[in-house]
Amino acid sequence: ESKKIKNSAHIFANAMQEGFLKNVHIEQELRKAMAHHELFMVYQPQMDIKGSVYGVEALIRWNSPNLGLVPPNDFIPLAEASGLMPKIGRFIVETVCLEIQTLHKILQHLFQVSINISVRQFMDAGFLEHLLQTIEQTQLRSLSITLEVTENLFIEDVHALLPLLEQIKAMGIHISMDDFGTGYSSLSMLRKLPIDELKIDKSFVDEMFEDDAAQKMVQNIIAIGKNFGMHIVAEGVETKEQKELLSAFGCDRFQGYYFAKPLPKEDLLKFLQENSFTCNV
Ligand code: C2E
Ligand code: CA
Ligand code: CA
Ligand code: CA
Repeated sequence: ESKKIKNSAHIFANAMQEGFLKNVHIEQELRKAMAHHELFMVYQPQMDIKGSVYGVEALIRWNSPNLGLVPPNDFIPLAEASGLMPKIGRFIVETVCLEIQTLHKILQHLFQVSINISVRQFMDAGFLEHLLQTIEQTQLRSLSITLEVTENLFIEDVHALLPLLEQIKAMGIHISMDDFGTGYSSLSMLRKLPIDELKIDKSFVDEMFEDDAAQKMVQNIIAIGKNFGMHIVAEGVETKEQKELLSAFGCDRFQGYYFAKPLPKEDLLKFLQENSFTCNV
C-alpha cells in the first residue's frame, strides 16, 4: 500500500517536474520571441445590432519556430509570472495603435479597437503614461480605444483604482469589463466605476441553450448592464440561433465565429472593405 502511494507520489512529482520544465522552456523561448518578431496581433470584428462592424478586439498570437502556434492562454500567465508582461504589454499597445491608425487612414473611416489589459499590466505604474505617449506618437484617436479589463482587477483596492479609471475616461478612452460573471464581481462595484461595456463570456453563450442557469446568467447580465446604461457584447457567438436569442434578450453587440474569426491585419482590411461599418467614434 505504502509503496503504491510512494509510486503515485513519484509519478505526480514527475508530472509536476515535466510541467515545470515545459514552462521554463516556454519562458526561455518567450524571452526571444519579441526580438525575433514572433509575436503579432490579430483582430476579431465586433458587430452591432444592425450587422455593421463597430469595432475589433485585438488578440495576441505567438508563432514560435520551436513550439508552433502557442495559444495566449498558455503564455500570457507565464509572461505575467516571469515579469515579461510589461514588455509584451507595451508591444501590444504600440502595435495595435500603429496598425489600427493605419487602417483608419486607408479606409478613411474610424472604428473602435478593444485591447485586453491584464490586471498586472493595468496596475503597472508606467502603464497610463506609456499609453498616452503611444496615442500621441501614432495619432490614433483616444476615442477609438477601449480597454478590456477583467472584474478581478477590482479585487484590488477599488478606491485606489478609481482615479486612474477616471483619468482614462477623461481622455475619452472606453472601458469594457471582460468575462463578466466568471470572477469576483459585485454589483456595488458596477455602480461606482465608469464602465461603458460588459462582455458576456463565451462559456455562458456556449451553454445558453442546454443549461438553464447559463441562460439566466445571460439574461441577468444583459439586464444589469442595460440598467446601468452600458453596451453589452456577447463573445463566442457561433450560430444564428445564439445571435437571435441574445438579441431577443437585449444584447446589442456581438463577436464570434458566426461573423468572423480573429483576422491578420491584411484580412481584416479586406473584411472591412467588404462590410458596412458604423462610425461611433
Ligand atoms: P478573451 O479576452 O476572453 O478572448 C476571447 C477568446 O475567445 C479569444 O481567444 C477568441 O479568439 C475566442 N473566440 C472568439 N469568438 C469565438 C468563437 O466564436 N468560437 C471560439 N471557439 N472561440 C472564439 P484567444 O485569442 O485564444 O485568447 C484567449 C485569452 O487570452 C483571451 O480571452 C485573453 O484573456 C487572453 N489574451 C489574448 N490576447 C491578449 C492580449 O493581447 N493581451 C492580454 N493581456 N491578454 C490576451
Ligand atoms: Ca477580451
Ligand atoms: Ca479573458
Ligand atoms: Ca472570455
